[in-house]
Amino acid sequence: MSVYFDHNATTPLHPAAREAWLAASERFWHNPSSLYQEAAATRRRLEAAREELGELLGCGPERIVFTSGATESNNALFRVLSVRLPQDKPVLSSGMEHPSVATPLRHWFPGRIREINALPDTQLDWGNFEHQVHEHAPSLVTVMAASNESGTLAPWVQLAEYCQAAGVPFHTDASQWIGKLPTRNLGQCAYVSGSAHKFGGPKGCGFLILSHEDEAVSLQLGGHQENGRRAGTENYPAIAAMVAALVARTPQLDACSREQSLWRDAFTDAVCHAIPGTRLVAAHAPRLWNTAMLLMPGHDNRKWLARLSQAGFAISTGSACSKGDGSAQVLQAIGTAPEDMRRALRISGGWESTAEDWASLATAIHTVWRQLES
Ligand code: PMP
Repeated sequence: MSVYFDHNATTPLHPAAREAWLAASERFWHNPSSLYQEAAATRRRLEAAREELGELLGCGPERIVFTSGATESNNALFRVLSVRLPQDKPVLSSGMEHPSVATPLRHWFPGRIREINALPDTQLDWGNFEHQVHEHAPSLVTVMAASNESGTLAPWVQLAEYCQAAGVPFHTDASQWIGKLPTRNLGQCAYVSGSAHKFGGPKGCGFLILSHEDEAVSLQLGGHQENGRRAGTENYPAIAAMVAALVARTPQLDACSREQSLWRDAFTDAVCHAIPGTRLVAAHAPRLWNTAMLLMPGHDNRKWLARLSQAGFAISTGSACSKGDGSAQVLQAIGTAPEDMRRALRISGGWESTAEDWASLATAIHTVWRQLES
């Protein structure tokens, strides 16, 4: 088995999630909408899971709709908002959004997307954000909480507060933030998307936090589930597992982020020292503790991945959902030359990564470099 450094693509199932999934599948597998005792027990559990998640995210349970993941949450939200929001105003976004945000935005708000400038270190240009809000009066602002590629963190609390004061709804795709950093304030955002498999939950499960005004929205038609907002039988075992994973992760976050960021920094220092000309993307920006995006001084990133895979390390070139040509949104946003983009490696450790894992990856990268150069 490879040493796994691709946690931003997906994570292994947390033992607490597996246990919760098995317990729910054995005992609470009935349809929560049916009208007998067992179904009522499943429904009670489902609503208890919603309340627990609401507490972790700092929002009332009535704002949470369970979905199949962040891609569905983003798509459904923008489709619904495209009808409701004023048709003559732009939507403000960053140039670094995940394709599940960027593509439906372009589809549902054609010709109306404005991008907030990115600084060279990948952070949002706050002055440009303020300027665009005042100049263009957007109908919606959407900025991801943490980049899946470079790990860059957005000041989403400040964005949410600023937007609230300006009367503009604010959405954040928090898929990469949740499970890695504290979540209690997420409820301050009007809309939040999240995905269970990014923090030790199962795949095919996630949620959308809606604003207080969205009691009557229909994200999906054909049934009365989720209070009429998303048709389709709720996947209670997956939902129970998702919530159990986040409950288990939350108390570990402080210790984990402190330790892991030191190991990750020692890793990037070692690689940059051993291979002169290596560049760390977003080196001076606030970043997720698990992520490092490196621009190597030579060789196509697919060659790097193949060699590292042979050496027993699973890493990535960027988003699993990007075009597959190795180009990362974040690199495009900061104007990286195409030939540099093809040399990008994304390394994303996890809660279970050890200091030895990070150190051995640095050694493996150095070994592969010598092989590729010879
Ligand atoms: N948003 C971000 C920031 C992501 O990293 C991902 C996963 N690649 C998604 C959305 C999509 O999530 P899901 O797999 O749950 O659809």
